[in-house]
Amino acid sequence: NISASPAAIRQLDEAAINRIAAGEVVERPASAVKELVENAVDAGARRIEVVIAHGGRSLIRVTDDGCGIPEAQLPLALARHATSKIDGTDLLNIRSFGFRGEALASLGAVGRLSVTSRVEGAEGARIGMSGGRAEGCAPAALDCGTVVELRDLFYATPARLKFLRTDRAEAQAVADTLRRIAMAEPRVGFTLRDDESGRVILRLDPERGEGQAPLEARLRAILGAEFTDNAIPLEAEREGHVLTGLAALPTYSRGAAVQQFVFVNGRPVRDKLLTGALKAGYSDLMHAGRHPAAALFVTCDPARVDVNVHPAKAEVRFRDPASVRSLIVTGLRQALAGATHRSSSTNAS
Ligand code: ADP
Ligand code: MG
Repeated sequence: NISASPAAIRQLDEAAINRIAAGEVVERPASAVKELVENAVDAGARRIEVVIAHGGRSLIRVTDDGCGIPEAQLPLALARHATSKIDGTDLLNIRSFGFRGEALASLGAVGRLSVTSRVEGAEGARIGMSGGRAEGCAPAALDCGTVVELRDLFYATPARLKFLRTDRAEAQAVADTLRRIAMAEPRVGFTLRDDESGRVILRLDPERGEGQAPLEARLRAILGAEFTDNAIPLEAEREGHVLTGLAALPTYSRGAAVQQFVFVNGRPVRDKLLTGALKAGYSDLMHAGRHPAAALFVTCDPARVDVNVHPAKAEVRFRDPASVRSLIVTGLRQALAGATHRSSSTNAS
């Protein structure tokens, strides 16, 4: 209706702003779990327990033994654009998972949120938030650490509810999200439990050891012994970027790209540059239609990669993408050539 007089421009209220922002960050229960578990990892937790009901739509509870949140800071933890992780002056030096200060505010806008926390040497406290409005703090008893509970996800945005899949499929997505985070944090223990049946869906004990050993043990627990028995460790470096991880021998290829995991500075990412490089590393060794299996970890100075390009932080931009691509392609080729050479010389002797 072009001829109509223009509608007045109005400032949206805080609750509406949070609900809109939440749409970008929280797509389904698994994305809420990702935000909460990343917060627990950022808090230095050694053990993280996730409980879900109805695939996470009626309940998500994440309990951690991390540093906790002081009572006086609980209201700020729920406020939008409030974070303890960066000071805003250096967006190129992000070392934590979080930095936007949006997750808790968003979750409190699309579900009934409560955060209960205790720091060492103080009493615990609880704060609730629903419909985008925070309640006051109340005393609570708990061990040091934090319990975040999210009930009735999307009750305030029924349109979103319709896009969710079955409880089973949502629970599966939650488990996959946890597995991805757990690959990059082998020293942290993770459990996922279903609240109604009490069934443990996933249990990963903290792995100990030095060097790549904890990673290898964790990948064995997640991807299976067949993967780790057929995989070789990666170790390459190029212009300040370091590649580690495990790459399966070409003989252990899959019919689909289901066992390809890529991490940048410990952050699970889905990135075409990186998966393209992974494929290229195997290109001469694998038949068309087969897919390599690998867990690749690229680490570099945080200033060389921008993680602030995607609301859920699933994408990254490297300052020097060509160099990262070469690192992966040649790192893989060299490791695979070495392994093929070794196995053929063992066969010969
Ligand atoms: P961000 O992670 O981007 O900082 P969040 O909304 O996820 O934003 O969290 C806001 C703040 O609340 C964090 O910066 C942190 O100080 C605190 N916080 C959230 N979860 C936890 C937790 N599990 N343990 C300790 N502190 C937490
Ligand atoms: Mg966060």
